[in-house]
Amino acid sequence: MTDWQELDKQYYMQTIVRVPVTLVRGKGARVWDEKGKKYLDFVGGLAVNCLGHCHPVVTGAVKKQADTLMQTSLWYYTVPMLQLAELLVKNSCLDRVFIGNSGLEANEGAVKLARRYGKLKLNGAYEVITTMASFHGRSLALTAASGQPKMHEPFTPLPVGFINVANNDIAAIKAATTDKTCAVMLEPIQAEGGVNLPVEGFLKEVREWCDSKGILLILDEVQTGIGRLGTLFGYMQYGIEPDIMTLAKGLGGGMPIGALLAKEKAAVFTLGDHNSTFGGNPVTCAAAYATLKYVIDNNIPGNAKKVGEYFMGKLLDLKKKYPFITDVRGRGLLIAVQFNSEIAQQVVLDCLDKGLLVNKLMPNAIRFIPPLIIGNQEVDEAVGILDGVLAGISR
Ligand SMILES: *Cc1c(COP(=O)(O)O)cnc(C)c1O
Repeated sequence: MTDWQELDKQYYMQTIVRVPVTLVRGKGARVWDEKGKKYLDFVGGLAVNCLGHCHPVVTGAVKKQADTLMQTSLWYYTVPMLQLAELLVKNSCLDRVFIGNSGLEANEGAVKLARRYGKLKLNGAYEVITTMASFHGRSLALTAASGQPKMHEPFTPLPVGFINVANNDIAAIKAATTDKTCAVMLEPIQAEGGVNLPVEGFLKEVREWCDSKGILLILDEVQTGIGRLGTLFGYMQYGIEPDIMTLAKGLGGGMPIGALLAKEKAAVFTLGDHNSTFGGNPVTCAAAYATLKYVIDNNIPGNAKKVGEYFMGKLLDLKKKYPFITDVRGRGLLIAVQFNSEIAQQVVLDCLDKGLLVNKLMPNAIRFIPPLIIGNQEVDEAVGILDGVLAGISR
């Protein structure tokens, strides 16, 4: 049998510490490794597989479109990307869409759009204010946008025009705003940076500040969008509307896609400003259209809310049982469990051994981002495994 993990060491660029398992198949909330061992998957392709692995609605759309028309470029009209754009606009507060291939591309587009707006409407303002511990992607510009010094250091000098300020601090945003500012860019909940929830009223205060200054509010909903938090988009929970919103992870049901959405007043790209060879690809857009339609028609966000609340309750029970759990936080099916020491890797490996995939969020925290179609039964199973693992560690 080929040792795939050995091939990784030999041929692949070593940029992350992979979990030592080679996955070959998935169905719903389950995956199987090369030896046939089955796992309950509470990572879900990193918050991507909102309908689980290989949902027939998604695979059906992919197969049908792959047999029909696979790639044309954006120089031609194609049906799936226009169906998807209409569905996104009709179900959100935004008016226009541009489809790319990843979260990074959507956010890069958002920053370009905000700079274009600055040039046309704000006397050339170009600075974007972001928050510490945010994560917006790994291009050079978005590395600068992400408020994580450890991401910056290996790649300096970085593009200028990004101001990282303290998170959850409206005074810091106000202090950083100058006549060079064109936008504030936030995740409704900081996901990669620790599942950090906004403090009460913060997003509303930012919205009001942006309005008072005539600058744009960009919401990076790459992870929080498509039902993850219990509503179709995260902004719906906080009583605000963004001027620009980005989506990616859950949107394609497992296929790589990113979407940039804007209100009419902010959709200021003109001819030649933006394009993408693979953007609007018919196969990924067919998958995304089928996924989004299923998510909406079957109230998948409602399920994420209901099951997420049940899950949170069970995890809070574990927190009572194990004093070394210092925090359980999240919303919908984006949940982190934090420990008082750096045991996350151990927990991930022990859960793997017992048939559960969980994500190491930080050295001292794990994250659950399961498919949004799970029920209480899968939660009970996952919590049972975690309980056993934590009992072993506490001994
Ligand atoms: C994952 C993520 C990104 C980057 O998306 P990629 O598809 O990996 O480029 C950007 N923003 C947020 C909030 C994310 O969670």
